Amino acid sequence: MERFKAGVILTFLACGVAAGQAPVTAVVERATAAQARKWSQGRWIDLTHPFDEKTIYWPTEKGFRFEQGMNGPTPKGYYYAANRFASAEHGGTHLDAPRHFSAAGQTADAIPVEHLVGEAVVVDVTKQCAADPAYEVTPDDLVAWETRHGRQLVDVIVLLRTGWATRWEDRAAYLGTDQVGPEAVAKLRFPGLSPLAAQWLVDHRRIRAIGIDTASIDHGPSTHFGSHVVLCTGNVPIFENVATLDALPDQGAFVIALPMKIAGGSGGPLRIVARLPDATD
Ligand SMILES: [Zn+2]
Repeated sequence: MERFKAGVILTFLACGVAAGQAPVTAVVERATAAQARKWSQGRWIDLTHPFDEKTIYWPTEKGFRFEQGMNGPTPKGYYYAANRFASAEHGGTHLDAPRHFSAAGQTADAIPVEHLVGEAVVVDVTKQCAADPAYEVTPDDLVAWETRHGRQLVDVIVLLRTGWATRWEDRAAYLGTDQVGPEAVAKLRFPGLSPLAAQWLVDHRRIRAIGIDTASIDHGPSTHFGSHVVLCTGNVPIFENVATLDALPDQGAFVIALPMKIAGGSGGPLRIVARLPDATD
C-alpha cells in the first residue's frame, strides 16, 4: 500500500495539477476509505457449523472433544479462560486437502490461498435430492447452471446446495444412520457429486475449490470415492458439511474458506464465510 501511495504521489508531482483539481493523494485516500466502509458494512454469512459434542463426524471417527480448563477469576483479579480440544481432521465443517485421496496432492498447509477465497457459484440441486436422497450431481446439472447464467464454471468456488444442511441437528436424517463404527458406513445415505461430473470439472473447467452441504463430496453409498480421487488428483480442495447455502445467491457472493493450517495435514477444521453482493457490487 505504501509503495502504491508513493507511486501515486510521484506521478502527481511529475504531472503537476490543474488549478482547483483535488490532489491525487486525497482522491486515492477517499477511494480507499469508501472501499473499507463497503467491506465492513457488507452482509456476511457464516457457512460453518459450530464444533461441539453434537458435531457430526464420520461414523468411524471420534467426535469433537473439548476439555474445559480452570476457567474463572484469578487471585490477581483478572478473569482467565483456556480450554483444550482434540479433533479428527475430517469432521464438522472441514477441508479435504488434495492429499486426502492423492499421494502427490497438496497438504492442507500447501494449498495456495487463491484456492480458498473467491467468487462462489451455487448449484441448486435441492429438488433432485428431495426426490432421491442418494442423488449424484451430474455433468448436465453443471451445464444447466452454465446455460442459465451464460458463463462457465471457471475461476470460481462451486458450492453444491443439496438442502441437507437443514437436517444437521438430526444425525440419522443427515447421514442416513445414527449408528457409529465401521458397520455404519454401509448405511450412509446422502447426496453427492458424481465421479463423472468431478472428472468433467477437472478436465474441462478450472475451478478454485468445491464445497457441499453433506458429509462427503461422494454420495453416501459410495465405496470407491471416485469424486474424491478425481478432485484430489486434480488438486481441487473440497469443503464438506458446509452450512447455510440457502442464504447465498446463484453467483456473486465472495467466499473466504480458511482451514487450520496443519503442516502435512490431509484436511482440517474449516471456518467458511461468504459476503453477499450488494446492489453496488
Ligand atoms: Zn473430508
